[in-house]
Amino acid sequence: MIHEIAPHKLHNAFRTQDPTPYDYFIRIRDNKILLKKTASNYTIPRIKDFPDLPCHYLIAIDGCAYFLDDSEDNAPISGNYEFVPNRILRTLGDRLERLGGSVAFHIAHWESLNKFCGHCGHAMERSKTERAMVCPHCHNTVYPRISPVVIVAVHNADKLLMARNLDHPDKSRLFLISGFVEIGESLEQAVHREVMEEAGINIKNVKYFGSQPWPFSDSLIAGFTAELDGDETLKIQESEIEIATWVQREDIPEYDTSVSISSCLIEDFRNKRKDPA
Ligand SMILES: [Zn+2]
Repeated sequence: MIHEIAPHKLHNAFRTQDPTPYDYFIRIRDNKILLKKTASNYTIPRIKDFPDLPCHYLIAIDGCAYFLDDSEDNAPISGNYEFVPNRILRTLGDRLERLGGSVAFHIAHWESLNKFCGHCGHAMERSKTERAMVCPHCHNTVYPRISPVVIVAVHNADKLLMARNLDHPDKSRLFLISGFVEIGESLEQAVHREVMEEAGINIKNVKYFGSQPWPFSDSLIAGFTAELDGDETLKIQESEIEIATWVQREDIPEYDTSVSISSCLIEDFRNKRKDPA
C-alpha cells in the first residue's frame, strides 16, 4: 500500500526548517499539483527548480523534505511543467514521491480551504507551534481534516461482491463497496449501511482487515471483510453505482497491491484456496 515504505520513514510531526536545493517544491493551483514531465512519467519539482520563492515546511521522508509554495505567483512556467489532478501522484515511478507528494497535497489542500476563519471571517494564520490554522481575531483553531472511509470485501462462498461507482474514472476494472463514515455511526455500522445502500444485501461477520491513509480525498480508509447474510440478490443504488455483481474467485484478475487497500482486499480473497474437504 502507498504508506508502506519501510525501511524509509515518513516524518509528519509539525516543525519549521529552511529548505535545501534538493528538497521538494509543492505548488497547488485550482486543486491541481505542479509536476515535472519526464520521458515516461512525472516527478515532483525540487526547490532548486524554483529558487528564492517563499515556502514553508510540510513533511519529510527520511532526510528529504516537502515545502509548500507561499507565493501567489501565477505567471506561466517555462519548461516541462504541468498542473495535474492529484490522482496522478499515485502513479509516480518513485514510491517515496507517491507518499510524500500525496501527503503534502493533503496538507496543502487543507491550508487552501482555511484561508479565512469559518467563525468570524478574519484571515487565518498558520500556527507557529503546531499543525493548525489559527484565527488571530477569535482564536478559532482548525486542524487538518481527515475523513474516515470504510471499504469492504463481501464474501459469498467463492464469490466476491465487486462494484464500480458511476463516477469512477477507471472503467476497465471492478472495485469494492466503500463510502464515507456518516456522523454518529461506528466504522462497522458504516460498513453494514454502505453495503445495504449500494448493493441491497445483509452481511455478517464484519472483520477489521487494516487501514491506510488516502490523501487524495483527505481520508483515512478502514478495510473490512464480511460474509453475505441471507439472500444474495443484489439491488443496486442506481444514483451512485454503475455495476455491482458477484465475481467468481477464478474470474478475478490480479490487482497491483502497491497503492490501495482495495487491491489488497481483492488479492486477499483471490489468493485464498478453498479449505480441503
Ligand atoms: Zn475568527
